[in-house]
Amino acid sequence: MMQIAREQKGLSHELLLPLVEIFETVEGEGTATGFPTIFIRLFGCPLRCTWCDTPYSYPPYQAEMTLSIAEIVQKVGSFRAKRICLTGGEPLLYTKQVIQLLKELAHLPQIVDIHIETSGAIDLAPFLYEVSSPKVRYILDYKLNGSGETDKMYLVNLEKLRACDELKFVIANRADFEQACQVLSEVHLRCTPLFSPAFGEIQPRELAEWILEGGQAEVKLSLQIHKILWDPNQRGV
Ligand code: SF4
Repeated sequence: MMQIAREQKGLSHELLLPLVEIFETVEGEGTATGFPTIFIRLFGCPLRCTWCDTPYSYPPYQAEMTLSIAEIVQKVGSFRAKRICLTGGEPLLYTKQVIQLLKELAHLPQIVDIHIETSGAIDLAPFLYEVSSPKVRYILDYKLNGSGETDKMYLVNLEKLRACDELKFVIANRADFEQACQVLSEVHLRCTPLFSPAFGEIQPRELAEWILEGGQAEVKLSLQIHKILWDPNQRGV
C-alpha cells in the first residue's frame, strides 16, 4: 500500500503537461453554465475547426508553461470555485498524464464536478476505464460539416456517453442543424444533447427557432455566455 502511494506521489511530480492557462471564471456553456469554474486549458489539438475560438491553444502558438500534475493540483487549490473545466485544445491528447490529473483532482474534497471538453476525435475508453470518480464527466463536441473536421470523429464514443455527460453540436448553418438532427435520430443517446450557435456565423435566435420548429424536445440550446459577459475576443474569461 505504501509502495503504491509512493509511486502515485512520484507520478504526480514526474508527469508534465503543456498548458495555455489556468484561471477562474463562470462556466460559459453547457449544463453547468453560470457556475464559478476553474478552467485548465491544455496546449495542443490535432483538429483545425473552421470556427475555432481558441487557435492560441495549438501551433504556431506555443504552450505558455509546462507544469507537473502536482503543480496543477496546487494551483487549483488556490481558487475558490468547486467546479473544474479541463479543456484545450484537445485535453485528451495526453492519456497517461490526464488520467493521473483527473484522479488527483477528483480526490480534492472541495471539488464537486470536473467536466472535460473533448473534440470527439479521441477514444474515451481508457479514461472511462481508468477514472471511476462520479465527479468526472465528458462534454463531447461533435464536429459537423461546417467545422471541416467531421471525418475525424471517433463515432464509437457516442455510445459510451453516460447520463451525466453531454453531446455538443456547434451549428454554423442550416445544413449543420439538419446534420445534427440526423445524428441524434441515429444514435441511442443517454446524455443531454446541446445545440450551440457558432459565434458570428448564425444568430442564437435563429437556432432557437429551428429547434422549436423541428420539434427537438430533448435538445438544450446552449449559448456562450462568457462572450456576452465579456469581450468575445478576451482570453482568460
Ligand atoms: S477541436 Fe477545439 S481547439 Fe481543436 S480546432 Fe476544433 S474548436 Fe479548436
